[in-house]
Amino acid sequence: MGAGASAGAKARGGRASDKKSARKPAKTDEVKPKPGEAKKALSPAQQALLKLGLRRDIDLTLHLPLRYEDETRITPLKNARDGDTVQIEATVTHSEVQLRPRRMLKVTVEDGTGSCVLTFFSFYPSQQKAMAVGARLRIRGEVKGGFWGRQMMHPAFRAAGGELPTALTPVYPTVASLPQPYLRRAIATALLRADLSETLPPGELPPVAQHYGSNGLQPLYELRSALTFLHHPAPDVALATLEDHSHPAWQRLKAEELLAQQLSQYEAKRERARLKAPVLRAAHDELTQQFLGQLPFGLTGAQQRVVGEIRADMERSIPMHRLLQGDVGSGKTVVAALSAVACIAAGWQCALMAPTEILAEQHFGKLVGWLEPLLAPLGKRVAWLAGAQKKKERAEMLALVESGEAALVVGTHAVIQEQVQFRNLALAVIDEQHRFGVAQRLALRQKLAATGMEPHLLMMSATPIPRTLAMSYYADLDVSTIDELPPGRTPIVTKLISDSRKDEVIERIGAQVASGRQVYWVCPLIEESEALDLSNATATHEYLSEMLPGVMVGLLHSRMPTAEKKAVMELFSAGVMGVLVSTTVIEVGVDVPNASLMVIEHSERFGLSQLHQLRGRVGRGAAASACVLLYSVNDNGRLSDTGKERLRAMAETNDGFEIARRDLEIRGPGEFLGSRQSGAPMLRFADLEQDVLLLDWARELAPRMLERYPALAARHVSRWLGGKAEYLKA
Ligand code: ADP
Ligand code: MG
Repeated sequence: MGAGASAGAKARGGRASDKKSARKPAKTDEVKPKPGEAKKALSPAQQALLKLGLRRDIDLTLHLPLRYEDETRITPLKNARDGDTVQIEATVTHSEVQLRPRRMLKVTVEDGTGSCVLTFFSFYPSQQKAMAVGARLRIRGEVKGGFWGRQMMHPAFRAAGGELPTALTPVYPTVASLPQPYLRRAIATALLRADLSETLPPGELPPVAQHYGSNGLQPLYELRSALTFLHHPAPDVALATLEDHSHPAWQRLKAEELLAQQLSQYEAKRERARLKAPVLRAAHDELTQQFLGQLPFGLTGAQQRVVGEIRADMERSIPMHRLLQGDVGSGKTVVAALSAVACIAAGWQCALMAPTEILAEQHFGKLVGWLEPLLAPLGKRVAWLAGAQKKKERAEMLALVESGEAALVVGTHAVIQEQVQFRNLALAVIDEQHRFGVAQRLALRQKLAATGMEPHLLMMSATPIPRTLAMSYYADLDVSTIDELPPGRTPIVTKLISDSRKDEVIERIGAQVASGRQVYWVCPLIEESEALDLSNATATHEYLSEMLPGVMVGLLHSRMPTAEKKAVMELFSAGVMGVLVSTTVIEVGVDVPNASLMVIEHSERFGLSQLHQLRGRVGRGAAASACVLLYSVNDNGRLSDTGKERLRAMAETNDGFEIARRDLEIRGPGEFLGSRQSGAPMLRFADLEQDVLLLDWARELAPRMLERYPALAARHVSRWLGGKAEYLKA
């Protein structure tokens, strides 16, 4: 009884929400007509089509099934097993409305081989009539072999008879206001109407596996036949090859998709090549020599190499669009500083933007220390711009930027605000670029618009892009990699320790601090609630203070006033504060080389790259460093599988590239990139890891195709990306 009752409750729940959405369309369905669009009222289904981006026939045609239902067969009831989704044809032998435990319609049907009870918790009188005793029905649903015999909950049904379809029935991704049958009809019509003429240049077929059919080796799919097949496959197809997208028809489509994406990337690159940027070449570059002379360390080979790559870019009249990637602690800041120096030496302004005030502040401190001695004799300065800034100071800074006295401007998003007028911005450096959106990068580029030029753009990231992603999503991006850590670092030892041994860890902290070292303690996000985060961090702060008498324990979280944050960071940087308890605000870029122990509480809740970033806060000096990942198990005494995989990856490797690769494996590229990071539309069908051969084909073909078949290339991109191609240019 228990199981039946809970299934019923579920069905009721589902029903109730269906009804609600049918009565009152959800707010988000109310699409405002775009300018230029006819203002006639659209039905909810039409609106839903637009919302799914299904505007053109080709869009509908490229909206491919998630899975299929087999309605080509009638299954005798005696062959229907518990859990099977089947289609039966049967006669109603009994029909009654029960009132207990709640109102429901129970209909018994028989097909000569067995019987089945259909249960409906909500039904219209017309439906009840259609299922009157004696009616012969074609019914489709999931069979449950319960205690009383076979049952179906809310199966689909209609009058029996009529031809059976010869192809599998597609099930499309859709939303509540767009019913499957409506979408199926729309797609079937579009498939007949759409222009599916080939866009691949003659003789340039993708490396799709040949396949065998009933009469031997089949020719490769053409676009039309591949699409027709995927929408309406024959029932004898191996469903697994459709589900995992390995079927030759799928491969053909994935190849086309990858080609479209490569073409648009190459096009963006060519368009960028037409833009102008200031040529940053100093007549005599003593500034760089001075800068290097006063650095307390020499550059690593990798740093020298990437500085060379960046400077070569900046000496060209095409705007640089370069990503500098290097593991946490690899020394990207000094590379940014050297790039700024080259820019300043050529007589232009540079801006450096960081995602958080703490990080920007730290860069500012470092850059002032490195650069002001060089700039002062030239009558130039480093300016500071941030959201939480006094009016007077801000006005002063804005004036410095406008007059050009500020050779370098450091700050947060405040740097790209409209009021900020640069005299001659030529280089923009964005630290932790994945924290910034496309819009912000665009805004930066516009800061030089008055001159008809664009500044050079250097983006920095400690989250390396795996090779496959770099090739596909960032074909339009040049990448420099620092693949070497500064000398003298001892590798960080990572330990996984259960929450229940927290007090032992705290003892260890006491010992570390006693020997002059410093410790970070990071508290996690709890249920995405800032208030809870806060109370948790506060409680931890109190607990640690109590457990570690005589040690200065500080607290840092995002809600604190800037001045207070700054004061805490200063005490920690100066080595006065032994332990810093914080929420994830310290995640990016903070640099306190004396800190050698990182404790992350509830580490199972963090993402892999986030954990790696956090761990990178230690191991920055010569002292041996450690990272303790405290984890707690759920009520069943278990860690989730992905949680376990992440922690295992952390324990097994310190290499940011390996971490990124595993992250990609655990999360998949869509999530890895996030739309914010990529600014590029996600691939819908192709899988970068699985479809390497197709990707290689597309990468190789794209530049040739743009050169020799520009019209085909344009048609291909518009077919696949429609209006979205614009977005790629950011
Ligand atoms: P990230 O790449 O994570 O931004 P940072 O630029 O903050 O790394 O550098 C990490 C630390 O290493 C800093 O304290 C920095 O001064 C130091 N550092 C950078 N380059 C070198 C080098 N070539 N030799 C020694 N220390 C270096
Ligand atoms: Mg950094």
